[in-house]
Amino acid sequence: MDFKDYIRVIPDFPQPGISFKDITTLLNDGEKYRLAIEELKSRVSHLKIDLIAGPEARGFVVGAPLAYALGVGFVPIRKSGKLPYETIEVGYDLEYGKDKLAMHTDAVKPGQNVLIADDLLATGGTISTSVDLVRKLGGNVVGTAFLIELGDLNGRAKLPGIDVFSLVHYD
Ligand code: AMP
Repeated sequence: MDFKDYIRVIPDFPQPGISFKDITTLLNDGEKYRLAIEELKSRVSHLKIDLIAGPEARGFVVGAPLAYALGVGFVPIRKSGKLPYETIEVGYDLEYGKDKLAMHTDAVKPGQNVLIADDLLATGGTISTSVDLVRKLGGNVVGTAFLIELGDLNGRAKLPGIDVFSLVHYD
């Protein structure tokens, strides 16, 4: 199964020079969406995972079904100000300006093994911030899982010592 066939590439979105990888076409196909989650599940099946954490919004559509398939819990990582209970936050740089990601302080217990999932690894900024959040709570990051990896942006360099599992690669 080449999942690439089900990903729509939109040139120059949201700005000139960006080749946007649109996963809505994959999500729209129930069988292929399920197969993609099953494939990710088999890639991480050797790991001991207690929880999956995923950053909003597309990290939810990968992380939550993967958590369900593995029979483990899911932790939402959200933009600052969205979570209702006590949070910890970590700031990160965007192309223009800065933002913060947040997690509930009781979402991960010290020593729990956490896999972090998102739709796409680009520069790695989002995922390395998610790693920082999980580690701040004492969680052990056992790996990261993506539908798509953009090789030329070398997001892996921001994840030293952390395994990266991805289904589809673009240069
Ligand atoms: P980064 O923090 O640079 O690794 O960017 C990862 C996040 O930005 C992911 O959650 C993606 O949803 C989104 N993203 C970055 N680049 C693209 C792209 N070329 N196509 C689709 N989504 C992207």
